[in-house]
Amino acid sequence: MIRGDSDAEARRRRPPARPAPRLTLDTPVTYLKGVGPARATSLAKLGITLAGDLLRHVPHRYEDATTVTPIAQAAVGADVTVLGRVIAKGVLPTRKGLRVFQAVIQDASGMLEIAWPGQPFLDRTINKDDWLLCTGPVRFFHGRRLQPREFVNLGPEEEGTGEGRVLAVYPSTEGLSVRLLRAMVQQHLDALLPLVQEPLPAWLIDAADVPPLPDALRMVHRPTSVAEAMRGRSRLAFEELLCVQLLHRKANQVAREDRGGRAFANKRDLTSKLRAALPYTLTHAQVRAIREIVHDMESPRRMHRLLQGDVGAGKTVVAVFSALLAMENGAQVALMAPTELLAEQHARSVANLLAPLGIAPVLLTGRLGAKEKRAALARLAGDGPVLAIGTHALLQSDVAFANLGLVIIDEQHRFGVEQRAILGSKGVAPDVLLMSATPIPRSLALTLYGDLDVSVLDERPPGRQPVTTVVRSESTRTKVFEFANAQLDAGRQVYVVYPLIETSEKIDLKAATVMYEALVAGALAGRRVALLHGRLPSDERDVIMRNFRDGALDVLVATTVIEVGIDVGNATVMIIEHPERFGLSQLHQLRGRVGRGAEQSYCILLGDVGAEAAERLGMFAATEDGFEIARADLQLRGMGDLFGAKQHGLPAFRIADPLRDEALNETARTLADRVLRDDPDLEQPLYAGLRQQLTVGYAKALEYFRVG
Ligand code: ADP
Ligand code: MG
Repeated sequence: MIRGDSDAEARRRRPPARPAPRLTLDTPVTYLKGVGPARATSLAKLGITLAGDLLRHVPHRYEDATTVTPIAQAAVGADVTVLGRVIAKGVLPTRKGLRVFQAVIQDASGMLEIAWPGQPFLDRTINKDDWLLCTGPVRFFHGRRLQPREFVNLGPEEEGTGEGRVLAVYPSTEGLSVRLLRAMVQQHLDALLPLVQEPLPAWLIDAADVPPLPDALRMVHRPTSVAEAMRGRSRLAFEELLCVQLLHRKANQVAREDRGGRAFANKRDLTSKLRAALPYTLTHAQVRAIREIVHDMESPRRMHRLLQGDVGAGKTVVAVFSALLAMENGAQVALMAPTELLAEQHARSVANLLAPLGIAPVLLTGRLGAKEKRAALARLAGDGPVLAIGTHALLQSDVAFANLGLVIIDEQHRFGVEQRAILGSKGVAPDVLLMSATPIPRSLALTLYGDLDVSVLDERPPGRQPVTTVVRSESTRTKVFEFANAQLDAGRQVYVVYPLIETSEKIDLKAATVMYEALVAGALAGRRVALLHGRLPSDERDVIMRNFRDGALDVLVATTVIEVGIDVGNATVMIIEHPERFGLSQLHQLRGRVGRGAEQSYCILLGDVGAEAAERLGMFAATEDGFEIARADLQLRGMGDLFGAKQHGLPAFRIADPLRDEALNETARTLADRVLRDDPDLEQPLYAGLRQQLTVGYAKALEYFRVG
């Protein structure tokens, strides 16, 4: 073969040079300089597929001279952010066989050792002369030493944050360091910014007092001060909040048009009888909630109400009042709970409450035998007023109600939108009462559930003893279990709780099992102890729970499966292992399992935790106010987890935080009203940009808004 031929061949096979497409915000990132297939894949993980997405990928924090501590001033015991150039580095073995990557960094004021135990591989990515931004506690270890909780490698070029320079730190991902991301944004920023069009009308921008979009994007990516970056961010957050507010308004409107329902008459027949028969007086909060519910049920509009109240606030009796109101109008009621145990518990306590009225609820769970189930179904199919209490079993297609007028859903966040809708569809536009123990500040609840009215039980029934909560170190373990044994000797019961998180489920489960075996052989020898975790078949789990409830077990060693609604008044001690691994709201739910009887109860957080966790747990120990705890938890963890945004079908906030941005959210609420008053369907050209934003950005969210 002749050489020239093969050259020609190669030329033929090479695709003709594509004319570079004109850059728009919709240009795929793969067309951008410096973005190959590998980087494109990493970018996609961050939700960045188009050039415009790169602009919308906003730094999650900034560092400047005011947030960075000069190295010389990084004191032992403090938690600091420092910035310095690597002047030495290496991997050191320790006596325990752990390999530690170490670097010494230097700024104008001094030098500091940084250590990453167990991460020798960092030696490959961190080089001499790289600038590192590190955040973490400074400890004493042959001198000062910082162990980073987080760090960013800025590469060799950076000149630090002197002279008012601000460093933008971007959310990053595997294969795409903060440094690369920042370089990528900076490289394309000047070409992309002029393409950005302002979607909002000028009057809105003025009224909200935020910068126009192109300015805002420049401010967040290339700020001259942190304050300026925050101003840019406020614009992006505002836009997000405004869109969500508009969606909620719209959803409300749809729901309202669609919310013809039944008007019940407040006959004060059964409800008055219950009030007279109650063994206690209702709290003011309960009275208020009942009044709000009665008002909804009397109205011809469908009720969509969320009854929110901390664990033990007394939601059940409020639900029973609403059930009786429906029943005295001849209607049927379904109360659905997420687990069999909870459903049974409800059935039992409701049966007690209603016994003086001669009413017995119908229990419907998966555990019923064929004959029992037939009997239950027959009562629902009959025309008389019935209160059915059950689990998901209520959703089955063979469950038919003759006259379902009210649906009550306990622990509503544990059900999906569709499940709630199925139950609702078993009646003709029945009223809906949702119940939740997740305390959400009211303003936030309004944002999250635009379509729901909210009643809050913000008052505890009197006479409940506060739970004594303490944080105890490992060294007191023996004493802690001596205490537990003393309580057991006095006839009480005890929970020992282990964390179990999905990502390390196997390891955690093993740890819990090992610990359980150690307890049975040691500290709790001779006690009747069972291990309860989510991997057990649900009927086994139920047997264990029933035995514990009936006093046939003394101690329950459990993972977080006991979190929901278990009511054993005789359990007075809860020992929580590795408390630092739980969110505060989760700890609060767990603690709610004790202190339910007349005896003084104790919640003991056991383990050696870092300074930061100790502070968090100390705060938790000092209060039983679920709202305060939720607030703290939100600030620490952000929105995502707490509300299970996906389960709720809520549009996620990428930039805004309705809690932290409370004032901005208020502005957005007001302005959303003004926009819709001005142009209910956003038809004017003035609102074309906003309309586009909504239909493109929130298409999926729109589907989820119907409650029931
Ligand atoms: P939750 O809101 O967690 O569902 P419950 O409805 O289970 O709470 O009520 C917790 C306990 O408080 C129950 O034992 C209930 O009987 C009791 N309770 C409810 N309301 C009152 C009240 N007003 N006064 C005294 N005890 C009450
Ligand atoms: Mg409850």
